[in-house]
Amino acid sequence: MPETVTLDTEALRMRLNEVRQRIEMGARRVGRAPEEITLIAVSKTHPTHVLDRAIMAGARDLGENRVQEAQGKIEALGRERARWHLIGHLQANKARRAVKIFDMVHSVDTVALVERLERLCAEEEREELQILIQVDLAGEVTKTGATEDELPALVDALSRCEHLRLMGLMTLPPFFEDADRARPYFQRLRELRDALRARAAFSTGDGELSMGMSHDYEMAIEEGATMVRVGTAIFGARAAAV
Ligand SMILES: *Cc1c(COP(=O)(O)O)cnc(C)c1O
Repeated sequence: MPETVTLDTEALRMRLNEVRQRIEMGARRVGRAPEEITLIAVSKTHPTHVLDRAIMAGARDLGENRVQEAQGKIEALGRERARWHLIGHLQANKARRAVKIFDMVHSVDTVALVERLERLCAEEEREELQILIQVDLAGEVTKTGATEDELPALVDALSRCEHLRLMGLMTLPPFFEDADRARPYFQRLRELRDALRARAAFSTGDGELSMGMSHDYEMAIEEGATMVRVGTAIFGARAAAV
C-alpha cells in the first residue's frame, strides 16, 4: 500500500503549478499556445475533502471514472464549482445519472450509448451534453472504446443528435514502461481528429484531443493534446488500482 499523504491546499497548489509549468514547456517546445490545453485533475478514488482543496488550489476541471463515486462528491461539492469530466467507461444503467452530473463525457464508444444519452438528455431537460468519442487504437479486446472502423457510424449518430455535442476524440493507449512508445497512438488520434475536422464533424472549434496521463502528458502535448488527464502527478499514488 502506498503511504497516504495528506495533501493540504498549499501542497496541491504547488503540484498543480508544477504540472501547469510542464504543460507550458511542452507546448512551447512545439510552438503551441499553452492556453489551448486544458488540465483535467483526475480525482478518482480521492475523498471529497481533497477535491474541495484542489478546487480551492485552482483546479477548474476534475475527472472521475465512476458515476456512482462521482455523484456523491459532486453533490457534496456542488455542480457549479468545477467542470466535471467522466473519463471512465459508462454503463447503460448509469447513463441517466451521468447526464445529470457531468459536463463532458470522454468515453462514448457505441451508437447505442449515443442514442441512450440523447434520449436521457431530452427526458432530463439537459439542453446540451459535451461528448468525446473514445477510440481504441490498440485493438485490445479488454479495452473499451470504438475501433477506427466504428468511428464513422458514431460520428453519424452524433450528428443527428439535438442535445449531444461532439467535441473531439479521446484515447487511452496501452501502458508502456517506455512512454515514448505511446507516441504513435497520440499521432494516430490526431490524424483521425484532423480528418473529422476537415469534414466539419465537430460541434464547435477544432476538435479536442483528450490524451496523456501523468507519465506521458508532455509527449501527448507535443503530439497535439488539447486536454490532458492527470491524476497521480497532482494527487499522489492512489490506494487501490483502478
Ligand atoms: C486514472 C485515469 C487517468 C489518470 O491517470 P494518472 O496516471 O494517475 O495520471 C487518466 N485517464 C483515465 C481514463 C484514467 O482512468
